[in-house]
Amino acid sequence: MDLKIVLLGPPGCGKGTQAERLVAEKGFVKISTGDLLREAVRLGTPLGVQAKGFMEAGKLVPDELVIGLMKEKLAAIKGPVLLDGFPRSLEQARQLEALTKVDLAIDIEVNEDNLVKRVTLRRSCKGCGAVYHLEFNPPKTAGKCDKCGGELYQRTDDTEATVRERLKTYKEKTLPLTKYYQDKKILRSVDGEGEISVVFDRIVKVLEKK
Ligand code: ADP
Ligand code: ADP
Ligand code: ZN
Repeated sequence: MDLKIVLLGPPGCGKGTQAERLVAEKGFVKISTGDLLREAVRLGTPLGVQAKGFMEAGKLVPDELVIGLMKEKLAAIKGPVLLDGFPRSLEQARQLEALTKVDLAIDIEVNEDNLVKRVTLRRSCKGCGAVYHLEFNPPKTAGKCDKCGGELYQRTDDTEATVRERLKTYKEKTLPLTKYYQDKKILRSVDGEGEISVVFDRIVKVLEKK
């Protein structure tokens, strides 16, 4: 059966990092709304033009825009899917349910001080989207992606002020989804503190039980 997994959790908890490994080692295809939206902003598409201000302010991009994007992507994919950063509101979760069955929602838990440390020193690859951290997961050569040699950059929303705003948005709009999926009995919480590979092993354990 082709699993559909939702990765929940606040900004910086490790969704992108863990998704990258699950794609490389477990054959998942990942859909990251954050990556797709950043690409749309970069290209200046109509979606990007509409999304930019919300992203810079640390707010959610309006549901109908993100759901439209997701519908298009989901329809094009076969095989096990990881949704990284979607759904982020109850409305998105309901709309997703109308589109497809979700098998598991994995909530990655990290304390707030660590989230801020993670996000403010995050670096992302312009070429392939891989994620690094200047202290916790540095690239082998400064400023260059280990995987594709691409240039590393700091996201404009990865400042302390915007992260605080994103955490507020998370608590208000996204945190209610843990209860939503708990009620459906498909929520699994994973401790997101510790080494990346240790967190990965915890997630794999959860997947093996499914
Ligand atoms: P992080 O990985 O730090 O949680 P993302 O890359 O997932 O951040 O998202 C960056 C920004 O893109 C969010 O702050 C938000 O503005 C927008 N975004 C991403 N996914 C969604 C979504 N499902 N709904 C609304 N906005 C989204
Ligand atoms: P999210 O997609 O949830 O916003 P990321 O996967 O982009 O989170 O991780 C945020 C930052 O924290 C990145 O710089 C990443 O390298 C780093 N990071 C991810 N997991 C860990 C971990 N277990 N320990 C320390 N740093 C981590
Ligand atoms: Zn790269």
